[in-house]
Amino acid sequence: MAVERTLSIIKPDATRRNLTGKINARFEERGLRIVAQRRLKLSRDEAERFYAVHRERPFFKDLVAFMTSGPVVVQVLEGESAVALNREIMGATNPASAAPGTIRKDFAESIEANSVHGSDSAENARTEVAFFFSESEICP
Ligand code: ATP
Ligand code: MG
Repeated sequence: MAVERTLSIIKPDATRRNLTGKINARFEERGLRIVAQRRLKLSRDEAERFYAVHRERPFFKDLVAFMTSGPVVVQVLEGESAVALNREIMGATNPASAAPGTIRKDFAESIEANSVHGSDSAENARTEVAFFFSESEICP
């Protein structure tokens, strides 16, 4: 076990419904610390670059439109095994398959508007944290 950092995004469907506090409580209740946080509107270019791995997928255009449809909250979560723990707290991509008590089961609207993003590996977490935050903006 090791202390890790992971990149989390509260997506536009959740900010629209004023769920930022409720979602942050899920992280804090499970021992993750929010060590950096910023609310912003992604540009199309930023959303396309952030989700570049999905560029060839049929849902890419819709995903970029959704992610730029309203404000997001980007945040760095820190804690023991933060990458895997956050994925567990989030639940499966499709809320219909997400486990009870997960953020996506309780809050997501659809497989696309699924309320949160979380890095899926320690390596991607480092890249994604650096996409939004400089080291001096992270306050553990
Ligand atoms: P994220 O990367 O946002 O944490 P994830 O790792 O659970 O989610 P990915 O496969 O990386 O899932 O997909 C990225 C995002 O693209 C999903 O969170 C969702 O918003 C959207 N997405 C994934 N699959 C579909 C699909 N079949 N139809 C529509 N949107 C999808
Ligand atoms: Mg993913």
